[in-house]
Amino acid sequence: GQCAYLCPVGAIYETPDWKKVLKLIERKEKILVAQTAPSVRVAIGEEFGMEPGSVSTGKMVASLKKLGFDYVFDTNFAADLTIMEEGTELIGRLKEGGPFPMFTSCCPGWINLLEKEYPEFIPNVSSAKSPQQMMSSVVKTYFAKKIGVDPEDIVMVSVMPCTAKKDEIKRPQQKIKLEDGREIQPTDYVITTRELAKLIKIKEINFAGLKDEEFDNPLGTSTGAGAIFGVTGGVMEAALRTAYEIITNKQLPKLEFDDVRGLNGIKEAEIDIEGKKIKIAIAHGTANVKKLLDDIRDGRRYYDFIEIMACPGGCIGGGGQPKSLDPEILKKRAMAIYSIDELSTLRRSHENPDVQKLYEEFLEKPYSHIAHELLHTHYTDRSVKNKVAAE
Ligand code: SF4
Repeated sequence: GQCAYLCPVGAIYETPDWKKVLKLIERKEKILVAQTAPSVRVAIGEEFGMEPGSVSTGKMVASLKKLGFDYVFDTNFAADLTIMEEGTELIGRLKEGGPFPMFTSCCPGWINLLEKEYPEFIPNVSSAKSPQQMMSSVVKTYFAKKIGVDPEDIVMVSVMPCTAKKDEIKRPQQKIKLEDGREIQPTDYVITTRELAKLIKIKEINFAGLKDEEFDNPLGTSTGAGAIFGVTGGVMEAALRTAYEIITNKQLPKLEFDDVRGLNGIKEAEIDIEGKKIKIAIAHGTANVKKLLDDIRDGRRYYDFIEIMACPGGCIGGGGQPKSLDPEILKKRAMAIYSIDELSTLRRSHENPDVQKLYEEFLEKPYSHIAHELLHTHYTDRSVKNKVAAE
């Protein structure tokens, strides 16, 4: 089933990543930087007896600081950055007439399925790296320069809801090239939400009693659009908020796209942008994703822009999240995510002041040469190899 796509082969025989990270924080030889995905903050509290659906962003940041991380950044910042790159790509394709449908690219569970079973859609998938990989690429270049250290003196640890993120970081085409020619892997370790909870327990930190702390700057600022990446339909909604306003030069009358919300397996809608109707679809959970892809391949459906997430509910339902017996758990986590968006002062990715500053000081503009080098990737057809291996 799904696990074949989500779990890197052999990972169970290796030292678990939480043990490697435990060693790192005990040795403290390097600069330790953490980032936390949008869906971790709405689930980690469950490991410490908090009500499902609690938002524990401040405690999560405080726990990472207590564990010994020097900087804690927000993957939500990088989600805003992803929208700038992916939104620009969508606008470009709308001008140039394709290729359509365009697919989102931030879920490595989906990328594995694409390369192994649906390679014909490779040209349709956005080249934007996932937020985790954008964050790490920016930390080891822009941020390393800012604090005046060698990128290889930084250890980048991601806290993710996801086991597929563990093999995403090892993909050779995700490497970044430094000015002196060295090629490095942007992210060093991925631990899941459950693994972070384990570390907090081992170090006997009283999570529920922690005082809230803030993310570090400048890579800790985010908008509500970045927050909703953690739930099915969120990347689509965030992209539409930005693409609509950039194309039309007008503010959206209503920021919430109700058609893309909720837990239906396949959702679809039509958005009118300056008289052009854009057909969108969203699928989550492998069975729904395959059904949608088969329908498109066989010409039964047509769309312009599609969001795909391998896990049910999107990342809130990721394989690395706390296990729950609550039948309403996905709904509760989703509501928590939408509440973060509603309470945000800034709710559109292009309004993130630190993302704007990052472009001004370093990346120039979305899709610039340097943005392309650092923030984009490509995919390879792994379907043939798969067949040979199976014979
Ligand atoms: Fe990982 Fe699942 Fe989220 Fe995809 S949907 S990024 S596999 S947690």
